[in-house]
Amino acid sequence: MREYQAVVREKTEVSKVICNGCGREIPFAQADYFHGEKTWGYFSGQDGRQDSFDLCEECYQEMVAGFCVKVGKN
Ligand SMILES: [Zn+2]
Repeated sequence: MREYQAVVREKTEVSKVICNGCGREIPFAQADYFHGEKTWGYFSGQDGRQDSFDLCEECYQEMVAGFCVKVGKN
């Protein structure tokens, strides 16, 4: 989850990043994190819904640890 602040009229920049997994603030100036975005197609079950989320490194590791196939280069 990202919070934005207005920098100049009609322009914003990220001011705070909260991990959607654990709810803690991610100090993005000091730590790396995962950001995912997906716009679902009209013929999917989500029908045009836009999703986005951020995960701290620990929550990202927990998520990928549950995958049947290991994360790798695609
Ligand atoms: Zn987290």
